[in-house]
Amino acid sequence: MKLPLPLYLLIISSLTAFAQDKDTARIAGALSADQILAPLKYLASDQLRGRHIGLSEIDTAAAYIAGQFRSAGLKPVPGAKGYYQQFNRVFTPREKYHMDGQVGFDIQAGARYSLKNVLAIVPGTDLRFRSQYIILSAHYDHAGVQPYATSVDGKLDSIFNGARDNATGTAAIIAAAKYFARYPPRRSVLFICYTAEEEGEIGSNYYAQYPLIPLNHTIYNLNVDNAGYNTTNSVCLFGLGRTTSDSLIRKACIAYGLAVLPEPEGQDLFRRSDNYPLAKKGVPAPNFSLGMITWDDSIWEYYHRRNDEVGNMDLDYAVKFVRAYILSAQYIANEKSQPKWASGDEHEAEWRALYGKTP
Ligand SMILES: [Zn+2]
Repeated sequence: MKLPLPLYLLIISSLTAFAQDKDTARIAGALSADQILAPLKYLASDQLRGRHIGLSEIDTAAAYIAGQFRSAGLKPVPGAKGYYQQFNRVFTPREKYHMDGQVGFDIQAGARYSLKNVLAIVPGTDLRFRSQYIILSAHYDHAGVQPYATSVDGKLDSIFNGARDNATGTAAIIAAAKYFARYPPRRSVLFICYTAEEEGEIGSNYYAQYPLIPLNHTIYNLNVDNAGYNTTNSVCLFGLGRTTSDSLIRKACIAYGLAVLPEPEGQDLFRRSDNYPLAKKGVPAPNFSLGMITWDDSIWEYYHRRNDEVGNMDLDYAVKFVRAYILSAQYIANEKSQPKWASGDEHEAEWRALYGKTP
């Protein structure tokens, strides 16, 4: 006997809800709130002095991330130096001029900076899909320290802690790495913590130019970068409406009671983070961010300021955000069909060229 349609739909939706409950329970079981928050608290602590290039503390941060990958049992990427992709960068006087005043710690023109992306892989479980990789990425650098402490919110401070931007994103990658090492998905996962985003996406541009996994085997990238937030019942997806992964991300976020908003108007954020270098190569690459309804004074209050600290964040929200990110990644890594750009998107032609798809 055929079920009447409403009853059929009810059964399907309760089965979906049951599957989501199973997924969220598994994530909660694998990652306690404290385990998710410990890397955020450490990376954003005064001890790490704002993780700016040229300071020894950015190498401390890189070593910490590599240590987290190692202890979770992740494998180094073939062609990397351990867990690092190392390279040098010299800034021109013009680049220095552009950057001065935007970060706490000025860069030196003509000096050679030794930089490191930190990366590791979890091989997929399905022989038909494991040669396909999704990249989960976030930048771990931030704006450093200014030479003198001045008053901010009534207290003297010199350190740009970068808790939202982007210790939160880095903590999401570390949590995802631990989770997927234990519960690998069908596709392989490449985790990358990028350096020098604050100087103009230098780490991610370098990776897009010198990828360690061929880009035509890299079918998707979900980057995490954060300016801040002014809602705790939503996330933002920079690139919402532009790739076929939206419905899976929405499904994952709903499981945590989070809505998915587009990026706020007027900031061109899709092009301003580490997702963009891979997007330009054709890889579907949205950015997952803390929720912003509009870019207003409540964002400027912390964005690239010394009071972007863990102490003034809603940590229950941060935990939900990280878990929703992991579930989004799991759905995409397990989905049969390969994510695409929406038809007519400006990166559709690069996508076809990259993966050899005929129109
Ligand atoms: Zn930033």
